[in-house]
Formats: sequence, C-alpha cells, structure tokens
Amino acid sequence: MPIYYECQRCTACCRWPGDVKVSDDEIARMAVYLGLSEQEFIDRYTRLRWFRRGLSLQEKPNGECVFLDGEDCRVQPVKPQQCRAFPNLWNFPGFEKVCEAIPHRVSAEEFQRLVAEKTGEPGPGTASAGRPGDLRS
Ligand code: SF4
Ligand code: SF4
Repeated sequence: MPIYYECQRCTACCRWPGDVKVSDDEIARMAVYLGLSEQEFIDRYTRLRWFRRGLSLQEKPNGECVFLDGEDCRVQPVKPQQCRAFPNLWNFPGFEKVCEAIPHRVSAEEFQRLVAEKTGEPGPGTASAGRPGDLRS
C-alpha cells in the first residue's frame, strides 16, 4: 500500500537550499495574486536558473524562499507545483529526517485522491501523471 505524507507545515522545505522553479503559468498566477504585472513579479522575485534553464524564485540572504513570511507562505493559494508536489510526488533519500510530514498507509485509490486534492494533478499511475523527476528538472 502506498504511503501518503501529510504536511505539517513545518516550513523546512521553504528553508533548505535549492531551486524552486516557476513556469510561465505559475508566474502569471502569482503575479495576479500579488497585484503585480508579470514583469514586475519576474524582476522582484525570480532569478535565472542554472544554465539559463528558466526561472526560479529568489532566496533571502539567509537562504530561505523569498515568499516565506514567518511560518506562512505569501503565495500559499497559488504556490508553485514544485512546492505542492513535495514530498508525495517527489522527494529525496532521507527526506524524512528533515520533513515533519506524517506518513499514512492508504489504499492506492485514496493516495490518488489525496495527491490530486493536494497538488491539483492526477496522482502517479494515471495516464496524464508526470514522473517525479519532471517536477525537479
Ligand atoms: S518539510 Fe515536509 S512537513 Fe515541512 S512544510 Fe515541507 S512538506 Fe510540509
Ligand atoms: S513558494 Fe511558498 S511553499 Fe514554496 S518554497 Fe516559497 S514559501 Fe515555501
């Protein structure tokens, strides 16, 4: 049976180093949410990714995501898919040591339902689901 990880919003994943990549659609949604034009959003909150492979969110000098505000995400309702998908659709070896999500053994159907609810995407194993690696590349 699959394991569904229930996020506890500890914000560790908003603080560790690494890219939070953002697509054009995500930029458009976040810009509207913050009342900015897309260009203003890009100028204020994004940076070029390694080898110019698109854009990612900027980090604060202490390394946390530019949108982390205390324990809250300033773009929570429209946050990037990479944030929504962790740790159920992508993760890394040993992530349980730094992520406080609570594991639940659930049926395959329940896993798909929960993942779809959380990420807005069909769960893994469905025809249009992406591979976990796609979310990080
Ligand atoms: S590290 Fe895990 S529990 Fe903490 S906010 Fe991220 S997904 Fe949720
Ligand atoms: S966009 Fe929000 S959820 Fe994603 S890393 Fe930044 S603060 Fe965390």
